[in-house]
Amino acid sequence: YADRKRLSGWTVYAPELETVRPADLTLLSELKRAVEQDELLLYLQPKVCLHDGSVRSAEALVRWQHPERGMVPPFQFIPFAEQTGRISMLTHWVLRAAMRHTVEWRREGLQIQVSVNVSTFDLRDQGFAQRVFQLLRETGARAEDVRLEVTESAAMDDPSTTLKVMRALVDGGLSLSIDDFGTGYSSLAYLQKMPVTELKIDRAFVSGVRAGTDGEALLRATIGLAHVMGMPVVAEGCETAEEWDLLQALGCDYAQGYLIARPMPVPQFLAWRERHMPFVPLIARHDEFRP
Ligand code: C2E
Ligand code: MG
Ligand code: MG
Ligand code: MG
Repeated sequence: YADRKRLSGWTVYAPELETVRPADLTLLSELKRAVEQDELLLYLQPKVCLHDGSVRSAEALVRWQHPERGMVPPFQFIPFAEQTGRISMLTHWVLRAAMRHTVEWRREGLQIQVSVNVSTFDLRDQGFAQRVFQLLRETGARAEDVRLEVTESAAMDDPSTTLKVMRALVDGGLSLSIDDFGTGYSSLAYLQKMPVTELKIDRAFVSGVRAGTDGEALLRATIGLAHVMGMPVVAEGCETAEEWDLLQALGCDYAQGYLIARPMPVPQFLAWRERHMPFVPLIARHDEFRP
């Protein structure tokens, strides 16, 4: 009897419900509302070219302006949205918002590429690429103005499907970057198969790194690896002028981080870009000498 009970239990096993607390169920319905009623906000963080200081692209980072809880950061709802399957509607929302902005900018004569984070869930979905193309048609955005960030682990999960979806996206003119590189578990063989154009080193290897340390050696090796594979490298989490100098000396191609700017709403991003292009980290140097 005990076995049968366990068996019948398995047949209705729903992992997403088993672990969900009542508070989570509220969050689940709220997340749906957030997407439908535009409680989400698109923030942009500039990606600066370390060779010439130009800002030709930015990363889209979603924020949730909750009516009671205030600004909710992504780590409080993205993992949850992934576990419960809500992530695809969120990705859709972010993609459409990003695409609309690129169309508006083109009209004003600006060409800025936006990188959008996609999750494992999106990449395992055979229809994902088609939905991205549909969004491009709907918004009138150009594929070259959109880049998708894929984490190493997301790509490794069910590699045959995710590789197919990635190839379809690239065939449709989009480009991909590997996000949070160094924290996942992809093999070099797999890395070589992925149709990616850019490698983003996770901030764990960037923030706090000093010249002459193992950290520097690791950065140098990673940058070298990407370059051997023909990919430009972005360093995440560049927080100090010292890190900026080191990245530049190591031949890293782009940097993102609080030294440059925090993620900000779109109008602020455009104003920031007007003021700071080409970006030179002078203010930070000055700050370092303040008492
Ligand atoms: P990520 O894609 O690796 O994004 C970089 C994160 O690092 C962002 O956190 C950004 O604000 C933060 N960051 C940037 N520069 C610095 C720095 O100098 N120092 C430090 N300490 N942090 C820095 P955020 O916005 O909280 O996003 C966290 C993660 O949530 C993202 O990591 C990404 O994985 C996920 N995420 C954000 N927006 C989306 C989205 O629209 N869709 C999906 N699927 N995931 C998203
Ligand atoms: Mg990212
Ligand atoms: Mg990242
Ligand atoms: Mg990261």
